[in-house]
Amino acid sequence: DAFRVRRALISVSDKTDVIDLARGLQALDVEILSTGGTAKLLAEQGISVRDIADYTGFPEMMDGRVKTLHPRVHGGLLGRRGQDDAVMASHGIQPIDLLVVNLYPFEATVARADCTLEEAIENIDIGGPAMLRAAAKNYAGVAVLTAPDQYADCLQALNKPDGLSAAYRFDLAVEAFNHVARYDAAISNALSSRSITGETLPYPRQLNRYWQKAADLRYGENPHQSAAFYQELNPAAGSFASFRQHQGKALSYNNLADADAAWACVGAFDAPACVIVKHANPCGVAIAERVLDAYDRAYQTDPVSVFGGIIALNRPLDVDTARAIVDRQFVEVILAPSIESGALAVTAARANVRVLEIADGPQPASGTRLQTIDGGLLVQDEDTTLIGADGLRCVTDKAVDADLQADLEFVWRVARYVKSNAIVYGRHGQTLGIGAGQMSRVDSARIGLRKAEDAGLSLQGAVLASDAFFPFRDGIDQAASVGVSAIIQPGGSMRDDEVIAAANEHGIAMLFTGQRHFRH
Ligand code: 5GP
Repeated sequence: DAFRVRRALISVSDKTDVIDLARGLQALDVEILSTGGTAKLLAEQGISVRDIADYTGFPEMMDGRVKTLHPRVHGGLLGRRGQDDAVMASHGIQPIDLLVVNLYPFEATVARADCTLEEAIENIDIGGPAMLRAAAKNYAGVAVLTAPDQYADCLQALNKPDGLSAAYRFDLAVEAFNHVARYDAAISNALSSRSITGETLPYPRQLNRYWQKAADLRYGENPHQSAAFYQELNPAAGSFASFRQHQGKALSYNNLADADAAWACVGAFDAPACVIVKHANPCGVAIAERVLDAYDRAYQTDPVSVFGGIIALNRPLDVDTARAIVDRQFVEVILAPSIESGALAVTAARANVRVLEIADGPQPASGTRLQTIDGGLLVQDEDTTLIGADGLRCVTDKAVDADLQADLEFVWRVARYVKSNAIVYGRHGQTLGIGAGQMSRVDSARIGLRKAEDAGLSLQGAVLASDAFFPFRDGIDQAASVGVSAIIQPGGSMRDDEVIAAANEHGIAMLFTGQRHFRH
């Protein structure tokens, strides 16, 4: 038989849209029970509401700590319809068919910089979660709402002959448990990040993070692995996961991982920039006055690898750039902070190409980065601090002029987004060869220069970045042999003297950053 609501309990801190909901319920002849603040608001709007204290025969007390913690409330939520009816009746417990509760604003409270421990504690809702759990557990007989965006839908369903279906109530119950889980996680994170005397720990004693499924993926890194994509509850504006897809096939696991890497790298540049990623590494990066030229120059670095690449721009995708890309190459994903409508008309001709818009981006990554290991989790701050010009130290006889300095800073920025060991050759804001992910630095250097040769690019006068120090002089000798004029690297090797001497012998300028950028 149809599920009907005869009695509802409404107790909300966030009072958004609650008046409309109560009016809708009243029109359905639903009796409304409510707690202090909520009851007052509804009564002021002319909605007839029964105060919970009147129903329980027990006053709200202790500044609201005890409001609804009463067997007449919990019995009304938990009683099994058709099974517990007699015991409910004998104790004067009336069934509550609909519960509307959101909780004290704990997260917003602790997010305030000046929030004291006492304030945090006072904002731990006790009765709310207890009722939510009760109602959700008893979804067979009770519907439970935890967010204003559920109200309109629910009223609509209640106005239909079938009322709220069991499947609908189950989904609401799952939402309620998720709501409580997030709430408790927020409490756990906040309290386990601080001591009673007010010191805060950079990482809480227990880490609770919540993601919501955004999509099931066709498969994972390989077709025999199943996979899904989860999003943070509210991805920050400009972050990769806030993307909006305009066209193209569904994104794959590898598309998402590579597009994320491309977006991070292109976000490192202020000038119009293009980054082309394959298998998590940039294979071409360039800056220019226009993104069209940036794309063209990024493409030149490695015209072989760019096939099936992910292309990220830090400026709007315009018509000319869209045409240049789709006319020239097979591309999996294009990302940009906005897509001009004419450009969409161009990409539409390649229906498979995924076009992503990430408004307000790219932003430099912030916060923490998580990496799972078997049975565990590694957590670290994002590698966001890039050494500024004033932190760079020239260690060679040959000095670095402004042009060379700009070149060096460009390749250094790129190197941060290349898997270690990373070697990046470049000139005039264009990568000329990238060696990534090798177990030895010399191998990365060799690969980078071979790529430059294959692409027909000269390394004469080019600059080189190395994500970590050169352990021996061999890397410098090799760079000199292909015409490299300047090097940027962290320094800090036991053999720095030998490495600097080699640079001086070859007339190469060298900057030490004092900071390395491993990326694994
Ligand atoms: P109101 O504004 O109606 O006075 O209070 C609504 C808030 O009180 C809701 O966030 C609800 O979850 C919470 N609440 C309801 N019953 C209790 C209770 O017995 N103890 C505590 N601490 N909070 C409750």
